[in-house]
Amino acid sequence: MKKSKSVSVIGLGMMGSALAEALMNAGHDITVWNRTAAKAGPLMEKGARVAASADETIDASDVILVCVTNHAAAMDILGTISDGTAESGKCLVQLSTMTPDQSSELAQFAARHRLDCLGGSILGTPNNVTGGTATIIVSGPRVAFDACAVVLHAFGDAKFLGSDVGAACAFDKVWFAYVYGVQAAFFQGAALAHAKGFALDAFFDTVKARSPAIVEQLMAFGEKIVARDHPATMGHLDIWAEPFNETLAMCRALGVHDGLPVAIMDNFRRARAAGLGDQELSAIFETLIDGVAP
Ligand code: NDP
Repeated sequence: MKKSKSVSVIGLGMMGSALAEALMNAGHDITVWNRTAAKAGPLMEKGARVAASADETIDASDVILVCVTNHAAAMDILGTISDGTAESGKCLVQLSTMTPDQSSELAQFAARHRLDCLGGSILGTPNNVTGGTATIIVSGPRVAFDACAVVLHAFGDAKFLGSDVGAACAFDKVWFAYVYGVQAAFFQGAALAHAKGFALDAFFDTVKARSPAIVEQLMAFGEKIVARDHPATMGHLDIWAEPFNETLAMCRALGVHDGLPVAIMDNFRRARAAGLGDQELSAIFETLIDGVAP
């Protein structure tokens, strides 16, 4: 397969600029466009072609990436392209955060303009993208994914999630449930360390040192969730709940906001009320999906 492609990037905010830079570093032939033209300057200096319009951006390349604020912004731009601009065989990869329905609507719009369309979601920061360590979740026609994979791999790993074009945008909501929770837990721990007078570095160093073991533990929980069977092999849920009561009490005593600890205690309370106190912590999963049809 040809290793370099012509790629256009529409939207040069923090993420779009990182996408364009990573593509240039990977040796692709780049054309860019942004509403505020000045943002194209640094990329132009590095050798990117700057298009004068959205039509010209689409004409220039086989693969067109769109990375703007949201669906409305994407449609503000794509709504200006003329009928018949695109040749069949070109692929639009939409990488702006939006809902699955909006992603499907955008794919229908693209089809009317004879563009294949993939829905995508970027898991990672602009630095991850330029460093090639992001994960790009993509869904839509498999043949389009295969044609674009060499482009997406410039950013890191590219995972194909199936033919439903909206699936990638649904998956990022799942990811947000996890990653925003991790970030909230990090902020809570930092706030409690600060309130207690510990050096923040002591907390940060501990997070760094323990992270691989925590991921290993999560994957062990994951095996039990898949099996829907939660025998306690690491510790009983009751055992984990008691120390956390003390964390909640410490937050309250020191005036640290208790919203997150209260939510965590509520998970324990519901699981114990369901008679799962002697199970592994992963049994909380079963109480979270109460009411979900089997
Ligand atoms: P920025 O705020 O840095 O950039 C927003 C971009 O959208 C700019 O290019 C802006 O153009 C453009 N834009 C906004 N409204 C319009 C409009 N009405 N018409 C034309 N262009 C418009 O955002 P990011 O680059 O950080 O994010 C872009 C997308 O990437 C978002 O959907 C975000 O959720 C997603 N993302 C971002 C991550 C991050 O870490 N930054 C991580 C993962 C996903 P102009 O310069 O003219 O204002």
